[in-house]
Amino acid sequence: MPVALGIIFMQTLCSTVTSASCWHFRLSQRQFIAVVALILLSGCQPAADRASPVGSDPAQQIKVLATVGMVADLVQQIGGEHTHVKQLMGPGVDPHLYKATRDDMQQIMSADIVFSSGLMLEGRLEDTLHKVGEKRPVFAITSRLPPEMLLSPEGSGGHPDPHVWMDIAAWTSCIDVIEDSLSEHVATLADEFKANAIPLRTQLRALHEYGLASIASIPQSNRILVTSHDAFSYFGRAYGLEVVGVQGLSTESEAGLQRINELVDLLVERKVAAVFVESSVPQKNMLALLDGAKSRGHAVKIGGELFSDAMGAEGTYEGTYVGMLDHNLTTVARALGGSVPAGGFQGKLAAVKERP
Ligand SMILES: [Zn+2]
Repeated sequence: MPVALGIIFMQTLCSTVTSASCWHFRLSQRQFIAVVALILLSGCQPAADRASPVGSDPAQQIKVLATVGMVADLVQQIGGEHTHVKQLMGPGVDPHLYKATRDDMQQIMSADIVFSSGLMLEGRLEDTLHKVGEKRPVFAITSRLPPEMLLSPEGSGGHPDPHVWMDIAAWTSCIDVIEDSLSEHVATLADEFKANAIPLRTQLRALHEYGLASIASIPQSNRILVTSHDAFSYFGRAYGLEVVGVQGLSTESEAGLQRINELVDLLVERKVAAVFVESSVPQKNMLALLDGAKSRGHAVKIGGELFSDAMGAEGTYEGTYVGMLDHNLTTVARALGGSVPAGGFQGKLAAVKERP
């Protein structure tokens, strides 16, 4: 097996497993890769590689580390073939709780540029990113958002809500930070980064418009979004929904029985037809709500699973930023009585499933 081919093969495998299981893989398959194991294992990295650009020389690429998928996706599109983007947290990972491993530290330290979402989304990584930022370029892509664009919920001590990507227009304005940072790093490619950002902005503008129309198609009295944690305030503000979260802003706080009872009252009184679960948050509180409403004679269904703090599976449409928001907008609109195309914004959505 040629070494280059072997490395691609091994990286493909390793991008889907953790470093620990890479080690396991080596032991169980050693008859197969014994000859090239040492070389190949050097390519075994815990952070997921985004789709490797074709036709570019890896040695010339800007090595980027992005914390979450929503950031990695934008960076990859703007950087194109000139960037090699690794993503620290994969699908289903809760960034509020994420702690860096030793392998992650190596990834962060060996990147040319690090991009985070910021506003304390990556709570437990914040100190690390700050320290790394003293030695190499580290950018929070929300850092230039004007204060009036940010939401600071009650009880947060004035700290802004970090879930900005839920407002597609606000997230689009974060593109500037990526474009400028990459351009500063390789000035000769600035025009190319600028050119790459144009179709991205156009697409996101169209998706935002689709979101406005989709949510507006829900009957006014049904425009209430009950979800697991408070990740959807920007979503509600941008598209016109009243948002109620079962947990506090961070998934680290537990919802009390009293809160559950208050919400059951709300579901019954407002005749809410559907509530939503989230891909990166346990569902037990939502199930408690359903049981509570049922005991009072009001049937509520789970309207679907929304992507809150992580995108869908890698390699799927929902594993892109556009697919993630399309899924959320289409799922919410459909479950609350709006009229939206089955395939969503551009006909690419997997069938939106509703649970009985
Ligand atoms: Zn969150």
